[in-house]
Amino acid sequence: MTGAPIDDARETEQRCGFEVYPKRDLTIVRGRGALVWDDAGREYIDCTAGVGVASVGHAHPAVARAVAEQAATLITCPGIFYNDVRARLMRTLVEIAPATLTRVFLCNSGTEANEAALKFARHATGRQRFVCAMRGFHGRTFGALSATHKYRDAFEPLLPGFEFVPFDNLPRLAAALDDDTAAVVLEPVQGEGGVRPASRDYLHGARALCTERGALLIVDEVQTGFCRTGAMFACQHFGIEPDLLCLAKAMGGGVPIGAVLCAEPIAAGVGLHGSTFGGNPLAAAAALATIEALRSEDMAARARRAGERFRERFEAARPARVRELRQLGLMIGIELREKARPHLLALMERGVLALPAGPTVIRLLPPLVITDAQLDAVVEHLHAVLA
Ligand code: PLP
Repeated sequence: MTGAPIDDARETEQRCGFEVYPKRDLTIVRGRGALVWDDAGREYIDCTAGVGVASVGHAHPAVARAVAEQAATLITCPGIFYNDVRARLMRTLVEIAPATLTRVFLCNSGTEANEAALKFARHATGRQRFVCAMRGFHGRTFGALSATHKYRDAFEPLLPGFEFVPFDNLPRLAAALDDDTAAVVLEPVQGEGGVRPASRDYLHGARALCTERGALLIVDEVQTGFCRTGAMFACQHFGIEPDLLCLAKAMGGGVPIGAVLCAEPIAAGVGLHGSTFGGNPLAAAAALATIEALRSEDMAARARRAGERFRERFEAARPARVRELRQLGLMIGIELREKARPHLLALMERGVLALPAGPTVIRLLPPLVITDAQLDAVVEHLHAVLA
């Protein structure tokens, strides 16, 4: 055995880690499906799913098997060589994406997918500016942070050329586009920003504006992708075709991986971009097994059905503290008239783990394999906590 025993985890992380996360007093040591267990053996229904990562459920047997087999075969293979597993993943991504997206750059996280998309967009258009949405979130590295509306102040100056307009407001978007706009960057449902679905008209309008003005449309589906909203990708749900599609989170079933999918005219030559770990066979094998599970278990339909079930049951006795329920598939935001955090802690006491999305929103991103009984239990606990 190496490392500290499990019961030292709290003390060790506090001593050796950074306090960048608002920690909860819980040490998670095991997961299965929509459940996780703490170090005392207590069971929780996990509506965080690793912040929208464990869509196929924790410890999905096919993902675990694929990772174990690939680890014993070949873990790393740099991009200068071809690799069978990486090639299969690229082909699969192109198959499941909107038809115009025919090229893939593989990376390791959501922020990296956005970094790549921003670079590719500037390079492809020869233009400098990006128009982004207020309340949008695209990651914590400098480029992605420059496109992000929050978490910026401590790091100014960020990259020049990023402008923010209100989300879901087409006239303001139209007014912000000019001849130097490389791309518009949007989430189809803002996640961190409070679980806010865009309207269909807005997304179609944004698509048309970009085409008209020679700008590219970057759609960030890091959180909405891979069946979360009831379609493989939310842009398919809304019927729009982006020029660049950013993916990560649920893609590898928990193994770090990200991707940007690009439409045909977008090209990147030798040396323009790269990543040591991007497209490594271990993560690629995990992603292939995850995508296979998403498709063969029809998790898009499950997310749609379960999301509707949640809405019906929650709204049947909506507590007065609730201002609004926003939901698409199993991406759920409950906007309160007060702070969410005390309620998140009360839910945890009752065995339900949930996330915030801003100060007043309870966000639920359960594994898509959550059972009806587990989902009904979540609704019951929410009603009790918010009563
Ligand atoms: N884009 C969106 C829409 C996200 O929700 C997130 C993370 O929450 C990111 C990008 C950043 O992803 P990562 O944390 O993997 O860098």
